[in-house]
Amino acid sequence: MSAQTFIEHGTVIAWRGGRHEVLQDALVVFAGQTILYVGPEDGRPREPGCVRIDARGRLVMPGLVNTHLHATDTLYTKGYLEEASNLSSQARETNYGTLYKMLPAVRHAIDPQAQVLAAECAFAELARTGSTTIVELGYDYEVGGDGDIAITASVAERAMQVGLRCYSAPRYRAMHYGHAPGGQVWYEPYRENGRTRFRDCVDFCTGWNGRFDDRLRTMLAPGQIDTCDPELLRQTRRVADAHRLPIQVHAGQSPNEFARLRSEYGMTTIEYMQDTGLLGPDCMIGHGQIMTADGDLGSLGAHEVAALRDSQTTVVHLPWVKARRGGVINSIHKYREMGVRQSLGTDTFPLDMFNDMRMAATVCRIVEHAVDVAPSHEVFTMATVGGADGLGRPDLGRLAAGCKADIVLVRTDTFKASPVYDPFKFLVLSACGDDVDRVIVDGRTVVQGGVVLNVDMPAAVARLNEAALRVRSRIVL
Ligand SMILES: [Zn+2]
Repeated sequence: MSAQTFIEHGTVIAWRGGRHEVLQDALVVFAGQTILYVGPEDGRPREPGCVRIDARGRLVMPGLVNTHLHATDTLYTKGYLEEASNLSSQARETNYGTLYKMLPAVRHAIDPQAQVLAAECAFAELARTGSTTIVELGYDYEVGGDGDIAITASVAERAMQVGLRCYSAPRYRAMHYGHAPGGQVWYEPYRENGRTRFRDCVDFCTGWNGRFDDRLRTMLAPGQIDTCDPELLRQTRRVADAHRLPIQVHAGQSPNEFARLRSEYGMTTIEYMQDTGLLGPDCMIGHGQIMTADGDLGSLGAHEVAALRDSQTTVVHLPWVKARRGGVINSIHKYREMGVRQSLGTDTFPLDMFNDMRMAATVCRIVEHAVDVAPSHEVFTMATVGGADGLGRPDLGRLAAGCKADIVLVRTDTFKASPVYDPFKFLVLSACGDDVDRVIVDGRTVVQGGVVLNVDMPAAVARLNEAALRVRSRIVL
């Protein structure tokens, strides 16, 4: 049996009676990959050879479950497209010119080596800022739809080397889209409707699921709800059921997408997802923002609310990527009132879940003109248990006996933190990833003193900067 580790004297966010609760001067014990005990110091013996971590001046919390991000291209879009105009008046109305034009252009310019280099840096930053479980969605291949699945494998291996727990979700689709000069969005089918890529993705998902001591899991990821044909979505559901793989799809990203599903299939987004069998407790919707003609979730039909709620589908909320362009989800409070499950993700950058927790709370309060919505405790729960439940993982997102030893220690012995009356308000409304001191994933320390142990940062950053020059020079708009 592996030596036990005792995290002593910390302020611990323990999972008790189905909710996160604060325990002062408490003890967390784990051995190997599993938590053995969370509770008050009970004087249990420290055997010779055990490890003792003094957590005075630290909050001891479950690792954050970051359920939506793109590690291979995010770093190359940073500083490039976030303040770009929407390229046309029509695009301005929909506020999504970068989605349909600039993002595909950047992705065209990124070679495989550059993808893997970026992913390594992204994974290191995710670990450094307290994400212990991530869902890596990569990107789809813009031309031909027959991207090389070997890139996905290399990227997953990098996540494992950094030490994260990762759901690798290679994307596939039946068609791609783009943005005509007048602002119109066009769709063009792939050869074979992307079926070769789909088979490659399924082979990867079934072949790699559970590797690396089960730190690596896989997920089916039909690219976007509007770039998959109904048969591809039905096949996705069949494969998911047969192999017990979760699903994540981008949906509710733009007004154009909603209009497209209406005109092509005569259905709303939720009706289309229900019709193709996607909805379910194993299904996550990335974004889930524009799900109605007016973008207000209060306008959902009763049958749509029932379909989302009763299927126990999880909506992954990605507040910052839209907020920085002036877009808001309206709102996570409304989803909550409907009884819809929700989780959080970073999508792009910063790859810091603390930023998205704060944005989730703030955007919701602005939209609802109220301060008593999206309380910190609830937002923290979305960022931990919400994601874990969406992935079907009762052993993640919680500090309790029997759960995986995915543990984050946050500094509170600072000017910024002291005094900590309410740890949840500190974590959601004040803290950021720089406050993370130590990160343990699957029982192994991967960040110590704020330093990522398994990546040589100066060397990785130098490689990334070199690749970025190459990528940037190749972008053709
Ligand atoms: Zn995304």
